[in-house]
Amino acid sequence: MPRRGEGPIDLPHPGDTDGVAKSDAKHELKGLVKELADQQERLYADHHHAVLVILQGMDASGKDGTVRHVLSGVNPQGVHVHSFKEPTPLEHAEDFLWRVHDAVPPKGCIGVFNRSHYEDVLVVRVHDLVPERVWRPRFRAINDFERMLTESGVVILKFFLHISKEEQAKRFAKRIKDERRHWKFSAADLRERELWDSYREAYADVLRECSTDWAPWHVVPADHKWYRSLVVARHLAKALKDLDLHYPAVPEE
Ligand code: AMP
Ligand code: MG
Repeated sequence: MPRRGEGPIDLPHPGDTDGVAKSDAKHELKGLVKELADQQERLYADHHHAVLVILQGMDASGKDGTVRHVLSGVNPQGVHVHSFKEPTPLEHAEDFLWRVHDAVPPKGCIGVFNRSHYEDVLVVRVHDLVPERVWRPRFRAINDFERMLTESGVVILKFFLHISKEEQAKRFAKRIKDERRHWKFSAADLRERELWDSYREAYADVLRECSTDWAPWHVVPADHKWYRSLVVARHLAKALKDLDLHYPAVPEE
């Protein structure tokens, strides 16, 4: 990602697979899922760090699927998944980071945000829910907030699941056709789709303004589910490995 405030950003193609074959990806993912289970146990035993995975992307970009596939092997006790919906009246009465701060994983745990505080500069901006003088300063507030978390031992990994408009159409069609997927679909999804270009612009600003040294964005080509999961799993496994976690020594007594 370019540094903050710099010019236009080049996104990878949503269909990219970096030359990886699907069968190889599945095999590698299997290994990574096992590795994550082991690393998560160390994270818990060490109890000095938390890992926060932030998932953002258009409807049907695969946020839920990523959680299912990447974290399928880790102990449920050590993973906190939080889905951010429209704020309740109570949440609305507070600052926009209030509910987010409360959902940050405690030390020893992996937390996943399925949507996040970034909705407050995405959907909120696209739908004009607050004026620009309110949402614009949030980029800085978010960067400061994330820096503070990082300094408190939270490793932040932000993933933008980047799908094409064509792939979204295919996934919507599947949701409409398949009875077991109906629940995933709402008329609101179609209204959001019409705002595709506005979302693109809002996402471009997010990537430009909030790619920091302490909490960089990863743009994940997401038209192929298997590749998307592989990329996220690789980043997560690497982040845990970089923490160099060890089981604490048993006291003499
Ligand atoms: P879903 O992820 O499909 O369950 O939908 C959750 C909905 O809540 C999406 O339409 C989000 O845009 C919306 N949402 C999440 N956070 C906010 C927010 N801070 N302000 C307004 N809408 C939000
Ligand atoms: Mg939805």
